[in-house]
Amino acid sequence: MAHEFDTATLRKYDSDYVWHPFTQMSEWESADNLVITRGEGSYLIDSDGNRYLDGVAAIWTNVHGHCKKEINEAIKAQVDRLEHSTLLGLASEQAAVLAKRLVEILPDGLCKVFYSDNGSTAMEIAVKMAFQYQMLTGQRERTRFISFANAYHGDTVGAMSVGGIDLYHEVYSPLLFPTIKAPSPYCYRCTLCEERDSSTCGMLCLQELERLMESHAHELAGLVIEPLVQGAGGMIVQPPGFLKGVRELCDRFGVLMLADEVAVGFGRTGAMFACQKEGVTPDIMALSKGISAGYLPLAVTVTTKRVYDAFLGSYAEMKTFFHGHTFTGNSIACAAALASLDLFASERLLESLPQKIAYISERLQGLAGLPHVGDVRQEGMIGGIELVRDKESREPYHWEERVGVQVCLEARKHGLFLRPLGNIIVVFPPLSISMEELKILMDGIEASIVAITE
Ligand SMILES: *Cc1c(COP(=O)(O)O)cnc(C)c1O
Repeated sequence: MAHEFDTATLRKYDSDYVWHPFTQMSEWESADNLVITRGEGSYLIDSDGNRYLDGVAAIWTNVHGHCKKEINEAIKAQVDRLEHSTLLGLASEQAAVLAKRLVEILPDGLCKVFYSDNGSTAMEIAVKMAFQYQMLTGQRERTRFISFANAYHGDTVGAMSVGGIDLYHEVYSPLLFPTIKAPSPYCYRCTLCEERDSSTCGMLCLQELERLMESHAHELAGLVIEPLVQGAGGMIVQPPGFLKGVRELCDRFGVLMLADEVAVGFGRTGAMFACQKEGVTPDIMALSKGISAGYLPLAVTVTTKRVYDAFLGSYAEMKTFFHGHTFTGNSIACAAALASLDLFASERLLESLPQKIAYISERLQGLAGLPHVGDVRQEGMIGGIELVRDKESREPYHWEERVGVQVCLEARKHGLFLRPLGNIIVVFPPLSISMEELKILMDGIEASIVAITE
């Protein structure tokens, strides 16, 4: 039986014993924090019974809503068959079936699935796999990676090394392996041109990338990119054609393309995978957040036959990929992921998105007229609203003012739960959100921005 505690007790236990991620705990301990005890569809419910529309989909993971009956049932059924075994020395029913189902929907050519349990780890695996591939194919000087300014690939040391967000990564810099950094196509604060037009900006970024890749071609093992959208970097949307251009450059210089679809995979951009919108097949792709519909920690790193085959040989040849995690291919997580894929089909989820995407677009255009809204960005079911002190000069609010945080706290009065990225308000609801709920979400965001900035 679940234990039940009152809110005061739960808050005390939390502030006495829990160290929260990305959180200044001295502030947290003295705040009245919400304690979430239940979920229902697009809503999170706190220990006092208040309901909050989940505008960030349980940190970008939720797909079909909270406590979705079909997924709950699949998990319960799996628990009574097998909770976990291992993929070290054993095959596993759910992991095998899920791998097959994933390959059926992944961009053509991605055909081997390596399991882990979070996005950072999936990226560590991608980096190690690319590096070892180059070693195994005799390209021993290809040891380096090129990645983008403003990129986020997770918080482990290798994933931070290919990341590019100074606020998160700076302090650890002596620990990180050096990478080559290409500019981010962040048109609104572009440093490459004055055009402030996203396609010009994208072209200039591609040219700079080409120049960098050309001069480092002999030593590059891989290029790491978040396809279509840099998520944690502020929902920076790439102009059409950018990803395709990156793929072409990787081909030209013999560099493996590592696509981090941890945030954008599983329908978020309106397509099942972001790469599919540009007809691109990366050499290695990492997936996590949405894979189990926000239920359980699960991740995969998928690759092509070409990369996989390079690791084949007799044991004595030492071509084995020596990497693995204890909870690799967990049966319950895989069962949740399979139930989620079934729901994509039975609820015709992707088909339901264009109407929602068009509505978000319409509302974002409306918000763009507000006096302290600077750039607004959108890719599918992702929106980013950048708040600025001065619209004309694009002068940002100082990060210490934490205007984004204030707007999100204000939004709770409107029954929303939001989490900003600095001064960018993020729109990232469960894909299953209804049109009525989407209106509540956008109305609340608008009212909260107006209340705080005007
Ligand atoms: C969240 C995220 C990660 C890290 O995933 P974790 O499961 O938090 O380790 C990596 N890449 C991208 C693009 C992400 O959004």
